[in-house]
Amino acid sequence: MRKTRTTCSKCGKDVKKLRLLKRINGDWLCKECYKKRIKEKRENLKRNILGITKEQELEENREIKNKYNRVRWKKQKKEINKIREPIVPKIKGAKIKRYSRQLHNYLTKEEKNILYKKYVAQGLDDGQINIRLNNIKNYLKEYVKKLIKKKETDEMINIKFKEEFAKLIEQEW
Ligand SMILES: [Zn+2]
Repeated sequence: MRKTRTTCSKCGKDVKKLRLLKRINGDWLCKECYKKRIKEKRENLKRNILGITKEQELEENREIKNKYNRVRWKKQKKEINKIREPIVPKIKGAKIKRYSRQLHNYLTKEEKNILYKKYVAQGLDDGQINIRLNNIKNYLKEYVKKLIKKKETDEMINIKFKEEFAKLIEQEW
C-alpha cells in the first residue's frame, strides 16, 4: 500500500516527514487518519463494549454541564455574599434579615446590579436595559409561578430560581 516511507497507509497522503506518521496496529497513519482511527476505536469501545448508547452519552454530558454550572453559580454567589457581608449592620434582627435575603425567588438588588453592569458592558443604554430587566423579571416571575403550581417546596423553588438566573447570565454574557 505505501509507496514511500512517508505516505499514510490509509489515505495515501505523503506527509514528507516520517515523524509526522503515527503507527497504530501495523499501519502508518497521517494525523487526520490517526485521529479518525482513535475516534472510531473510542466509539466502538463505548457502543459495543461498554454498551453506552448515544442518548445516554448526551444525557451524561448534559448532567456534567449542569453540575458544572451549579458549582460555578455557587462560587459566584459566594463572592457576592462576601462583598455583601460587611454592609450588614450588627443590630437586632440583622441576622434574620441576612437569611431572608439569601432565600428569595425574585431578583435582588445585587442580581439586578450584575445584570445592569453586564448590559452596560454590552453597550446598551438605560432604556434598553430597563426593558431587558423587566423582561427577565417577568420571565422569572412566571417561572416561579409554574414551580408553585407544581407544588415545589420553598427551598426547591429557591434553588431552581438561582439556577435559572445563572443560566440567564451565562446565556447573554
Ligand atoms: Zn491519511
